[in-house]
Amino acid sequence: MYSRFRAYLFLTVLVFGVIGTLAWFQSKSPERAETPAPAPQHGGNESEGVKTLMSATAERPIAPVAAQTPVAAGAAVSEIPANWRDDIGVPVLCYHQIVTDEQYRERPTPYAVTVKQFREQMQWLADHKFYTILPQDLLQYVRGDKKLDFANSRRPIVITFDDGNNDFVNYAQKILDKHGFKGVLFIYPTYIMARKQRSMTWSEIQAVRKAGHAIESHTMWHPMLNTMTEAEQRAQFADSKKMLDEKGGANVRHLAFPFGIYTSSALRILPEVGYQSAYTTFHGGNQVGEHPYLLRRYLIVKSDNEKIFAQKTLARSLPLRIFGGEPGAVIEGETRLQLKLPAGLDHEAFRVRVFSTPQQFEYDEKSGGMTLTIRPSKKRLSVLEILYKEKGVEYRANALLNHKRQTGQIDEEKPRKAKKKKKKRRRSEED
Ligand SMILES: [Zn+2]
Repeated sequence: MYSRFRAYLFLTVLVFGVIGTLAWFQSKSPERAETPAPAPQHGGNESEGVKTLMSATAERPIAPVAAQTPVAAGAAVSEIPANWRDDIGVPVLCYHQIVTDEQYRERPTPYAVTVKQFREQMQWLADHKFYTILPQDLLQYVRGDKKLDFANSRRPIVITFDDGNNDFVNYAQKILDKHGFKGVLFIYPTYIMARKQRSMTWSEIQAVRKAGHAIESHTMWHPMLNTMTEAEQRAQFADSKKMLDEKGGANVRHLAFPFGIYTSSALRILPEVGYQSAYTTFHGGNQVGEHPYLLRRYLIVKSDNEKIFAQKTLARSLPLRIFGGEPGAVIEGETRLQLKLPAGLDHEAFRVRVFSTPQQFEYDEKSGGMTLTIRPSKKRLSVLEILYKEKGVEYRANALLNHKRQTGQIDEEKPRKAKKKKKKRRRSEED
């Protein structure tokens, strides 16, 4: 179990390392707005535009995306509101471990922040008039069904904690309480069942929920979903919900993708098994019209000083729609991606990259359509990043690209891996 946990950590480092590097580069950009952006003119209001947000627009699937799948209800593509710049969005912070200085010295882990850091960050949020909301509120906001309070520079935020570490009860909870903040815990049950030194107990989970924090799912055992069959993914979502509901006294409706990795099948299955929203690890505030199963969330790490923390929290978003019909679909061979961005932007002000490699693209100012050619990759996944700079403010959009494994690798490797995991899973369930 411990070695598997270490393997997860390693994979997390691998995936987030790249995303984090991008974030770091971005945060280095001197043009980033240092001050809070102006308050939005609307907060999920009942205007015409917002009412029609979730009405699906016609989608054209791109090239050889496996066409077996209709787009899930939750994945309906919304229009981009004309006043998207006014929507500063709702940031979502992602914490893993919160440790004492001594614990950190003993075992430095990449995603730990110290108790002192966490205390300072919560104080910073309180000083900047942030108040916490829960996933259900955020979902209603992005759907345009609920107004949130942005008056007098007040700002909503979601603060999340991944995996189920007992740091939450040992340290975080008291600090949150001080500010009247509520957290969201994304838990994967096998971690709790394994009763690791650092994992929460079921009764702690129940108590945390009773105290008003949200208990949500992080799948059953934290796999990389892009290596799983549809049935396996479905089991991850359904089983974890069932267990967290039964043993943790929860009412799970939201999920955080392990490693931030999502697939087109996951986006389709999630609503079928009772989930209403899901979280990636892409930066930017969540705006009205955001895809409810691709909500943005920032990873907060030890190296974030106050300046970077502020930049992450206040980062502005570029709305991105229609990701080739199916976000997370497996890309085979050279593929033409069709995206929709706001219309009327300046072609020259874009920077489009896959990981750190600049991409050629076409942008149609009139429609806001962007097309780019994605070449086959030896990597199983890569991250598309679109940056747009205007009047000194940088707006950002991301998407995950799942690549088909090069032939020869997948067939040999997968069954062996799956078998191994199954065995381990059974073992952990016996604990
Ligand atoms: Zn995790």
